[in-house]
Amino acid sequence: MRSLGRRTFIVGGLAAATTVAWGQSARAASFPFRLGVASGDPDAGSVVLWTRLAPSPLNADGQGGMSNTDVTVEWQVAKTSTFATLAASGSVTARYADAHTVHVVAGGLAADTDYFYRFRAQGHISPVGRTRTAPAPGTAGRDLVMAFASCAHYESGYYTAYRRMAEENPGLILHLGDYLYEDAATTGSVRLHVGSEIVSLADYRVRHALYKTDPDLQAAHAAAPWLVVPDDHEVENNYANMVRNDSSPVLTAAQWTARRTAAYRAYYENMPLRPSSAPSGNSIPLYRRVQWGSLATFHLLDTRQFRDDQACGDGWKVCADADLASRSLTGAAQESWLLNGLAQRGATWDLLGQQVFWARQLDGAGAANMDAWDGYRASRARIQQGWLDRGVRNPVVLTGDVHRAWANEIKADYANPSSATIGTELVCTSISSDGNGSGSTSIPYAANNPHLKFYSDRRGYVRTTITPTQLRADFRTVSSVTEHGAAATTVRSFVIADGQPGLIQV
Ligand code: FE
Ligand code: CA
Repeated sequence: MRSLGRRTFIVGGLAAATTVAWGQSARAASFPFRLGVASGDPDAGSVVLWTRLAPSPLNADGQGGMSNTDVTVEWQVAKTSTFATLAASGSVTARYADAHTVHVVAGGLAADTDYFYRFRAQGHISPVGRTRTAPAPGTAGRDLVMAFASCAHYESGYYTAYRRMAEENPGLILHLGDYLYEDAATTGSVRLHVGSEIVSLADYRVRHALYKTDPDLQAAHAAAPWLVVPDDHEVENNYANMVRNDSSPVLTAAQWTARRTAAYRAYYENMPLRPSSAPSGNSIPLYRRVQWGSLATFHLLDTRQFRDDQACGDGWKVCADADLASRSLTGAAQESWLLNGLAQRGATWDLLGQQVFWARQLDGAGAANMDAWDGYRASRARIQQGWLDRGVRNPVVLTGDVHRAWANEIKADYANPSSATIGTELVCTSISSDGNGSGSTSIPYAANNPHLKFYSDRRGYVRTTITPTQLRADFRTVSSVTEHGAAATTVRSFVIADGQPGLIQV
């Protein structure tokens, strides 16, 4: 499976080439770019460009209507959308074995620069995407507008929030998981999944294709480079490493291993990830750092693949086992990787892009969510103490999963509300999961959770504006996802000031 990445990997970026005019062609039935284009994981000189050839995206064999041959795909990168002068260009082979997905590492680009890109294959030209490189090492670059989101259940609603996010012209988009859901078609939904719960490689490929047929999602991919990490539903609900949480469908251990392998393979194929993130059988190397000059370090975590099983049988529990020092949400290797990265103090903002709720959150009975960091309290405490020991200036945890927006202060001791605030957590709501929402902004069990400062039950995303002196977070929501066309409005804004953990409402 490693070869899956390497074979589709080419480095571009030889100096500005001669102008190559690509004529437009009509969108015939054979048009292969029905799933759009994407880019991701930029550094100061390169970015990953992604597309997939699929004239019939929902064909049950997962091959998108392509025949069993490999196809040459040309690509171009330019500073203007006319592509009059090329900054980089080349060609790559889209392999049948990879479901005709391509991951081009377009290199030789200038730092902190906006680019346009496109592909050509089989006589057709793709839509144009916009991307951006990171600032040069040691420089802050331009202020960064970075939007983050999670949880886009296709049946629960339309992707209006993705559309509004694209319209913000962000420089970067962070996706924190539940990009797709594995469950079967459900009657009565706004729109339907195709087929049964997904298990095989073909199933996962078709599900990725279904999601990417959505024009609002395509617009968000085309608007900016993405940094992606999966959560559970890209494989199966609440799985913990090799332990399943669900009993349906019934699978043998070997079948579960094969399913995880298929899910990780399809995830890599369909995301703008670097070839270094290509899966190897039943595992996929996804935790990684993305450096944004001296402005921000993104530490992208994987809290599914290495975790201990949820304590006390998962769910909301009062559970002594959740305190066991032996329990880990990250695994030992990822924990030391994270702490070593935090020790570098390479940027003003250390942003932990990750999946599950970080701060302690108790319900009225004192129970907590065993799937979140509350089920792995020693693991959380080691990392919090780790950033204190290393003098991390501005730790900010970015979270998805819970389908509600929250803004939280991270406490040295959650049992003592007057203990120091040592960091900040911003939790995005869902793009569509759980439908329209109640609109409530009343914090659940607020008396038990004085460090949780904001809550909203609407769909949307968080728009952050990151500068060397502050990180501003605007919680953007849409009033409806069951009908098209809702506007995005800001329900609350906070600022985190450099060197001052915690939330300032603005
Ligand atoms: Fe979700
Ligand atoms: Ca989840």
